[in-house]
Amino acid sequence: MQKQDSMWKINESPRLKSYTLANFRELPQIQKLGKEKQFEMEVVGNVLPFKTNNYVVEQLINWNNIPDDPMFVLTFPQKEMLISQHYTKMESALKKGDKKEIQNTANEIRLQLNPHPAGQMELNVPTLKDGTKLYGMQHKYKETCLFFPSQSQTCHAYCSFCFRWPQFVGMDELKFAMREGEQLVQYLIEHPEISDVLFTGGDPMIMKAKIFSTYINSLLDANLPNLRIIRIGTKALSYWPYKFLTDDDVNETLDIFKKIVNKGIHLSIMAHFNHLVELETDAVKEAIKKIRVTGAQIRTQSPVLRHINDDSNMWAEMWKTQVQLGCIPYYMFVVRDTGAQHYFGMPLIDAQIIFRDAYKKVTGLARTVRGPSMSATPGKVQILGITELDGQKVMVLRFLQGRNPDWVQIPFLAKYDEKAIWLDELKPATGDKFFFEEELQEKMKILKNEDYPES
Ligand SMILES: *Cc1c(COP(=O)(O)O)cnc(C)c1O
Ligand code: SF4
Repeated sequence: MQKQDSMWKINESPRLKSYTLANFRELPQIQKLGKEKQFEMEVVGNVLPFKTNNYVVEQLINWNNIPDDPMFVLTFPQKEMLISQHYTKMESALKKGDKKEIQNTANEIRLQLNPHPAGQMELNVPTLKDGTKLYGMQHKYKETCLFFPSQSQTCHAYCSFCFRWPQFVGMDELKFAMREGEQLVQYLIEHPEISDVLFTGGDPMIMKAKIFSTYINSLLDANLPNLRIIRIGTKALSYWPYKFLTDDDVNETLDIFKKIVNKGIHLSIMAHFNHLVELETDAVKEAIKKIRVTGAQIRTQSPVLRHINDDSNMWAEMWKTQVQLGCIPYYMFVVRDTGAQHYFGMPLIDAQIIFRDAYKKVTGLARTVRGPSMSATPGKVQILGITELDGQKVMVLRFLQGRNPDWVQIPFLAKYDEKAIWLDELKPATGDKFFFEEELQEKMKILKNEDYPES
C-alpha cells in the first residue's frame, strides 16, 4: 500500500540498529525535518519512551507522509503527546540544561501521566504457599497467569502509547532466569486450575534464545499436567521480523517453538500489529511462515488508537490480510486511561463504531476478533453496541473475562455516554450500581488485606 524508498532484500541479514534520543539526529530523514521539530521530539522523548530502529525507519515509515504516517507517530515522539503545560515545563528544563532538573521534571510529569489505580499491579501479584511474593507474575483470571521474565522488560522499538517502562536489569541473567522459572513451575504446581502461561514484558522475544529456552525448559521438564497452552505476547514480527529469519539465534528460537509443540502443548504467538503497514514487508510475511511451520499458531491484537489506526477500512484490510497470512485476529483493545491518553484515546462509542464498521466487511474467518475491549479492574469488558431501553439510548456491554468467572458473557447496560473513555465513567442504565460492583468491592478489600497484612 505504501511505497518505500528502498525495500530490503529478503535474503539480507540486517543488524538491529536502535535510535533513541542519543542518536536520532543522525538519521537523514530526521535532519530534513529541521531543528525545531527535532527539539520538539527531544522534549517529548524525555518524558515518553522513545526507541525506534533501522527496520522501522527504512521499511515501515513512509517519509513522504510526515507527520501523519502511522508508523512515524507510533515510534517517534510528537509534540501533541504532551499537554501544553507539561510540554512547556520540560521545554524550559531542557533549555536550562541542568541534567538533574531534567530528570526530576521527567519523573514529576510521568507520575501525573500514569494514574494507575494504586496497587492495581500489586493486587494481582500471586504468592507461593511458602509466602514468597512473585512480582514477575500476575494472576487475575483463573486459567491464565502472566509471566514477566526479568530480561523481557524492553522491546525492539517502543510504541509511543505504551507505558511499560524499559528497566535495565543488571543481574546475572542466566541465574536469574533459572530462579524465576522454578518459581513459575512451583506456582503452576500449586494452581492446577491454570492451563495457560502467557509470557509478556516488554517483549519476551527480545530475549536471546538461550535465556528464553531456560524458562521454557523449566516448564517442559516439570511435566505439568495442567499446562496446555503457552502464549508469547510480542511485537517482534512488527518491529524486528529478523528475530525469526536471520538473527544469530534464529534456529534455536524456532527449535524451542517446535519443542513446545512436540510436547503436546499449544504455542500461541500473541502478535501485536497496530497497522496494515506492519504486515506488508517480505520480511514479516516470511517470518510468519517460519513461525507457522514450527506448529505454533499466531493470534493478533492491537488497541484502537487515534492518529494511528482510527480507520475501520484499515482494520478490515488488516484482519483480512492476517487471515490470508494464516494468523487469527483475536482482540481489539481500548487504549488504557494512562500516558498520552488525550492524544491516542477516543470515546468508547467511537471505538465501537470503528470495530463494527470493520467487522461488517470481513468474513467469518476474521470474526474470531473480539472488541473493543477494556482491560479494567473487574475484567475485560467489551462494548457490544447501542440499543434502546424505554425509548432511551443505552450501551450494551459484557465481560469477556472477569475477576469472577461467573460475570462472563452476561450482557449489562450503561447509560448512553458519547464522551466516556473508560468503564469507570459509565453509569448503569437502571439502578445505581452495575451488577458486579458490590462483589468487586468485597473482592478488592480481601485482596488489599492479603497484600498488606500490616495495614
Ligand atoms: C487479557 C488477559 C489475560 C488473557 O485473557 P484471554 O481472554 O484468555 O486472552 C490474562 N490475564 C490478564 C491480566 C489479562 O489482561
Ligand atoms: S511492543 Fe508492547 S511492551 Fe513494547 S512498547 Fe510496544 S506496547 Fe509497549
